[in-house]
Amino acid sequence: MGEVKMGENKFIICNHCKRFINDKNDLVVAYDFLVMNAYHSECFARRAKENFFLSKKPVNGLVSNIVTVLFGIAGLSGLFTDFYVFTVMAILQLSIRLYSWLKYESILED
Ligand SMILES: [Zn+2]
Repeated sequence: MGEVKMGENKFIICNHCKRFINDKNDLVVAYDFLVMNAYHSECFARRAKENFFLSKKPVNGLVSNIVTVLFGIAGLSGLFTDFYVFTVMAILQLSIRLYSWLKYESILED
């Protein structure tokens, strides 16, 4: 624990095992019954099996990034059509993505 830099109180604690997450590649951000939480990738896999409310899709990671881009495109096309719902969903997805990044991922950014 002594190795962890706690400057500016920026550190991430796994919601499952309550230990520090120090590696960006080991970080999974996911919704646990509408609350955004951080997990080690291993802890997330373990917990996802046991917890009905835990979203099976992490907020961070490749799949989410692709979804964000797709929603962005759909949202833009929604601006020129009557499908406002795409625009709303795009804004929502982008907000969630940004929030996850600001709250967790940016901390582990070098
Ligand atoms: Zn953990």
